[in-house]
Formats: sequence, C-alpha cells, structure tokens
Amino acid sequence: MALPIADRWFEHRSIGDGITLLWEPHVIPLMRCNIWHIRGRGRDLIIDTGMGVASLHDATRHLIDKPVLAVATHTHLDHVGGHHEFEETVVHAIEAGTLSEPESVISLRNEAYFSAEGRRKIAEAGYDIPDGCMITALPDAGFDPDRYRLRPAKRVRAVEEGMRVDTGDRSFEILHLPGHSPGSMGLWEAKTGTLFSGDALYDGPLLDQLEDCDIPAYIRTMERLRALPVNIVHGGHDPSFGRARMIELIDDYLASRTAQVGLAAS
Ligand SMILES: [Zn+2]
Ligand SMILES: [Zn+2]
Repeated sequence: MALPIADRWFEHRSIGDGITLLWEPHVIPLMRCNIWHIRGRGRDLIIDTGMGVASLHDATRHLIDKPVLAVATHTHLDHVGGHHEFEETVVHAIEAGTLSEPESVISLRNEAYFSAEGRRKIAEAGYDIPDGCMITALPDAGFDPDRYRLRPAKRVRAVEEGMRVDTGDRSFEILHLPGHSPGSMGLWEAKTGTLFSGDALYDGPLLDQLEDCDIPAYIRTMERLRALPVNIVHGGHDPSFGRARMIELIDDYLASRTAQVGLAAS
C-alpha cells in the first residue's frame, strides 16, 4: 500500500522553562522519540533528533537563533537521524563511532530492519510492530523507505560520566546510564531537579533485551536514578513525569528483573 505524503513532519509544543518538545507523528510509537529543544543564553541544546527522514533543522528554524549543540542520549536509529544537520554533536564515548560512521543504507521496513527474534522481544515488552514501514507517511514524494541513509554527524565530541554540557545560563551534568544501550546517558540539571533520561527511563515499555542491552547494568542504573533528587523526568519516549511516577516505574522494573537476575546468578 502506498504511503500518503505528510503535510508536515514534526509537531512541537512548548512545555515551559525554555523547553520545547518536538515529535514525529508519522512514525510508529516504538520509533517515535521525544526531541527536546532547550533555549540557552549562549547556545541551544537539542536532545535527540528523531528519524532524520525530514529536516529537523528546518523544522526548528523558528526556535533557533544561535549555535546548537545536538546531544545524543544514545545512538539507536530513532534518536539520531538528524544529528548531521547540526554544527556539533555530543555523545557518550562508547557509542561515538556509530555517529561518525553510521551504517550506510537501511530499510525502514520493520521486517527488514528488525530480526524475527528482535521483533518477538519488542512485542513481548509491549510494543506493536506492524508489518510494513516504521513511518506511516512519506516526508516527500521522492522518499524511498528502502534506501534510507543515516548520515555521519559533523563534529562529534565524545563525553563521559561527570562531564558537563552548558548553554551559558544552564548547566547539565552527563550521567552515564547504561543498560538499554552501553552508552546511554542522561542530562541532569541539579538546580531544577530536571532529568533528560533518554531510553534509560520513560513512561512506557522499557527495552532491555535488544542486542546491546545489559540487564545487570540496567538494574544499577535504575538504583542510581532512584536515589537522585529528581523533580521531573523528560524521557526518550512518552509523556514527562514527576518523582512519584519515577519511583513507581523504577520499582516495577526492579521487581520484574531482580528475581530473574538473582536466579541466573545462582
Ligand atoms: Zn533506544
Ligand atoms: Zn528510543
């Protein structure tokens, strides 16, 4: 079935505190990531960039009037498609290679992109992966979902735990949050208790059984986040939430996994 052509690829909504959420409505929920724009005095941040099938740079023109630092919470396809459009990218050192030299041609057809095993595990976690494309419309008539190309980011700066990303008036600490992926990281603004958590934590089915996942590391990440004085979490997917919901999500995860890992270790 031919896909329709979208009128507009990105939607956006200001959530206050100088932060705008952007998202891609024509992408299946599994792959529809949250893209965060943070306005700074000296420069702006964009945290994650979506699928990269349409220009995020163009879609954020109305928001941006200064240099932009694009942060990758991790390098799964749904989070890094648009990084190449921005002057500089920050990514955890462990995953930096994926952004400098991405795979050349990718099919956006679910049955081609995911292995049967991968699809089964993702479905088990709670996501529906339909047959067909991970996009439900085309950004333009010439777009071929079987010939998608993730382009290399321009200037890649590898970062690690404890380093900082600053905008001039705001300062975020890098938290290394492995488990979902080896180089998953969060941005933590202690002053406001704001956490951008990427796919380490969001209010939806968490994925810890993909190829590069590490459940024991994920458990340590969750224990660490639980102890953080968080007010608000802006995740890699799904709506933002406060501290009480964070504790619930973490405790649900820990309850589901700790017994399992304990058994495996004994
Ligand atoms: Zn991910
Ligand atoms: Zn994701």
